[in-house]
Amino acid sequence: MGLKKVLTIAGSDTSAGAGMQADLKTFQEHDTYGMVALAAIVTMDKKTWSHDVTPIPFDVFNKQLETVISIGPDAVKTGMLGTQEVIKRAGEAFIESGAKHFVVDPVMVCKGEDEVLNPGNTDAMIEHLLPKATVVTPNLFEAGQLAGLGTLKSIDDMKKAAEIIHKQGAKHVVIKGGKALDQDKSYDLYYDGEHFYQLTTDMFQQSYNHGAGCTFAAATTANLANGQSAKDAVINAKAFVASAIKNGWKMNDFVGPVDHGAANRIEKIEVAVTEI
Ligand code: ADP
Repeated sequence: MGLKKVLTIAGSDTSAGAGMQADLKTFQEHDTYGMVALAAIVTMDKKTWSHDVTPIPFDVFNKQLETVISIGPDAVKTGMLGTQEVIKRAGEAFIESGAKHFVVDPVMVCKGEDEVLNPGNTDAMIEHLLPKATVVTPNLFEAGQLAGLGTLKSIDDMKKAAEIIHKQGAKHVVIKGGKALDQDKSYDLYYDGEHFYQLTTDMFQQSYNHGAGCTFAAATTANLANGQSAKDAVINAKAFVASAIKNGWKMNDFVGPVDHGAANRIEKIEVAVTEI
């Protein structure tokens, strides 16, 4: 038997709250064996904390994929990929790897950064990633972009977007409402192609939440690798990240990461699940 092998295809966040560092920490907390194919390296300016994204040369990216495909992951997650070429290759690598599960976190911009959105990347995700996805985990902004609906303003809008993204091929869709919908709870919508469920927890502090999105998708991936249904994988991932956010901490004047190990080390958080 042994540990399930879980691969992330993502960027490196040198401050290590998000990106492949968040993924590996989260995989470890779920008793899985984490592996990485790195697409880019994100570094921060020490005075302003503005981000620089340095892509990994494509042939080096591809060599990493060849290595991990030969090992044979049980589940694969994607994070920040950067270019259409990398997005396409990540989708192919999932198929070549023979993995059972594919979790797509459709990262479009780094949190806190005003990078210009590359619409070509959105189209590439729709073409190369969504049709293969077991679960896709957009936030409100990303869901609006993928569905072509612009800004999502209500739970009805979230439902419409989830239906469109499901038609694009993702088997299960979670739209992270987070704080954006002005709810007093942290609100996510889960859609399995037939039923909609709202997943809520208390809303915790919002200052030190760097890495929340990556941690949520990574926990979902590890839960799937460990044999959970997609619905359970998502619910348990939300509980895991809620604890991580509640225990987020201040790293410096610019950033505060979530505590990836808080669910196991400090406290469990309950998720309320209601069909809507
Ligand atoms: P992203 O980083 O992709 O924008 P989010 O940080 O919005 O993703 O969401 C990651 C997960 O954390 C989601 O399940 C979301 O509902 C949850 N979440 C976000 N902020 C909070 C908060 N302050 N308290 C509790 N849960 C939160």
